[in-house]
Amino acid sequence: MKIDVLTLFPAMFAGPLDESIVKRAREAGLLDLKIHNLRDWAHDRHKTVDDRPFGGGPGMLLKVEPLFEAIESLQREKTRVILLSPSGRNFDQSIARELAQQDDLLLVCGSYEGFDERVREALADDELSIGDYVLTNGALPAMVVIDAVTRLLPGVLGDDESSHDESFSHGLLEYPQYTRPAEFRGMKVPEVLMSGNHAEIEKWRRKQAKLRTEKQRPDLLK
Ligand code: SAM
Repeated sequence: MKIDVLTLFPAMFAGPLDESIVKRAREAGLLDLKIHNLRDWAHDRHKTVDDRPFGGGPGMLLKVEPLFEAIESLQREKTRVILLSPSGRNFDQSIARELAQQDDLLLVCGSYEGFDERVREALADDELSIGDYVLTNGALPAMVVIDAVTRLLPGVLGDDESSHDESFSHGLLEYPQYTRPAEFRGMKVPEVLMSGNHAEIEKWRRKQAKLRTEKQRPDLLK
């Protein structure tokens, strides 16, 4: 998969995307990731990319010209252009799965007060929010999307790290898990997990996943 990111803060991406599973996916050639600085498409020598909103009000908006030119130059035939924005649809595991099927994504990070509406109307295929709160710019949301999508790409997770039984994979949260020691400070691992009876373990896990979901996220069961 190819992912391009358009941002005013390329340096924010160093670190999170150079570690762990995303790093491995990049090294294995399963993810081709490029970070682009929107200022490279600015028109003046001060590299201005923002301007005041028509009608007044606080803050600045990203100018249309650099955004249009950047998106048009990075876009290929099958690219899905996605704006990161608090007004977008809520990003979740099913959207991550949907995006993992694509060949080519362009994630466009907003800054200041966000996008001129014409970018939405003319260029965006989709608009995603990572939650009902406002962050200072779209770099962290883009990294969240990249991480969640990358681990779903075929071949990225090894067998022992499979995403199959994780939270949200069956519409439920994940069941409780334990590792050694079997008893720690008086807290014991449930007997069934050490019984070797796989059918009983499976039954226990399903029940616990349901109980946990009912308690923490009843909305998932609707
Ligand atoms: N004025 C905008 C509003 O009220 O919706 C908020 C702009 S925010 C300060 C700047 C940029 O951060 C946004 O354009 C977007 O790219 C990004 N951003 C902030 N919160 C986000 C969220 N929850 N999900 C996705 N992107 C977000």
